[in-house]
Amino acid sequence: MNHDRSRDLYDRALSVLAGGVNSSVRASMPYPFFAERGDGAHLVDADGNRYVDYVMGYGPLLFGHDLPDPVTAAIQQHASQGPMYGAPTEIEVELAEFVTRHVPSVEMLRFVNSGTEATVSAVRLARGYTGRDKIVVMQGGYHGAQESTLVEAGEDPYHTHPSSPGIPESFAEHTIAVPFNDEEAVTEVFSEHGEEIAAVLTEPILGNTGIVHPVDGYHRTLRDLCDEHGSLLVFDEVITGFRVGGLQCAQGEFGITPDLTTFGKIIGGGFPVGAVGGRAEVVEHFTPAGSVFQSGTFSGHPVTMAAGYETLKYAAEHDVYDHVNALGDELRAGIRDICEEHAPEYTVVGTDSMFKTIFTREAPEAFEGHCEAGCTQRETCPRYDICPKNSADVNAAATDRWERVFWQEMKERGIWLTANQFESQFVSYAHTEEDVERTLEAYKEAL
Ligand code: PMP
Repeated sequence: MNHDRSRDLYDRALSVLAGGVNSSVRASMPYPFFAERGDGAHLVDADGNRYVDYVMGYGPLLFGHDLPDPVTAAIQQHASQGPMYGAPTEIEVELAEFVTRHVPSVEMLRFVNSGTEATVSAVRLARGYTGRDKIVVMQGGYHGAQESTLVEAGEDPYHTHPSSPGIPESFAEHTIAVPFNDEEAVTEVFSEHGEEIAAVLTEPILGNTGIVHPVDGYHRTLRDLCDEHGSLLVFDEVITGFRVGGLQCAQGEFGITPDLTTFGKIIGGGFPVGAVGGRAEVVEHFTPAGSVFQSGTFSGHPVTMAAGYETLKYAAEHDVYDHVNALGDELRAGIRDICEEHAPEYTVVGTDSMFKTIFTREAPEAFEGHCEAGCTQRETCPRYDICPKNSADVNAAATDRWERVFWQEMKERGIWLTANQFESQFVSYAHTEEDVERTLEAYKEAL
């Protein structure tokens, strides 16, 4: 494959954009390709190379690159009427009503402009509502580029330090990070700090550290601990929302009712978006109904709201989730078979339309004994025993192999995967059986 134009563009970009990109995950070795256009499930780069795309904008593109006609028509109609107003519009109400109809825990919402803004606002709301400062997050969880959650474990296991320069130590003092799926750890944290904890903030399925499923009963334990101690349970469904469990989201799949949910990605149909939803009694603490300040020039942007509403409506009325989940099953089963034959120490993770291969070569001791833990996939997954149960398990895998070798091999075969071991990959409504076959062939050769 020729990448000359991408390399030239990258050279230009390096002079005027920090690191040549506008989001750090887009950088890849030796340089990223520049996208020219999308075509169904495919992406065409600046040199005319065509890839089967499983990055899908890091999650928002449920339909792939070609939007269904009603979605395109609504976007064009709203854009042509003038992009935005600074006054409320009917389409914001329509999307909010749709979400409250389909996600039982959500009675009321506040739309914002990114997943990060959603989690920032949710944390502020939880702190304002409870009058407490501490939040509990999961090690390896990701909630966007925000001060309260960019933390790494310190010397005392549950205390944290900022994971980036520029964040005062004092922010991390209020954030406790526990290992995902460790009921003992979170119970201990609550017995020590229960009265100070405003919220537990977790992705229902960790989607930014490989893909890690909750073991049976883990979310129930979180729910019970929050109830006992007057803390809020916040599910970050920025990735899983309207992807895992269809329109009821991952919380519906797990049968757990969080107090608050953060959304992003799919809920904006491919445009910049975020949202905080939950019990009206809590969400009404946002200004102007309540006193927890929240505001945004672009929030509830009519074009985004139209794209989101028509996207979810289309998904509700067509076989979108059946299609993406069936192809997800086929991909996971196919890759699992290939691993069995060519690379038995690797493991395939994911659910619905999310998938990833974890390079668990020389599975560390950390993997042993997890079979007892009761993962929800125990019945169906033949590789349950080496399936990662927390971010330490994923970190212990051969994470460098992904970008250095495997990802490059796949890219050269015309399959575009996420460029590091940690980010999930996504199937869209535009992917076909033929794409899956091509992808499995490439996996076989690359593995
Ligand atoms: N939460 C989760 C679970 C995410 O995966 C992400 C982004 N991938 C965010 C929050 C932040 O969203 P954004 O990049 O839109 O700010």
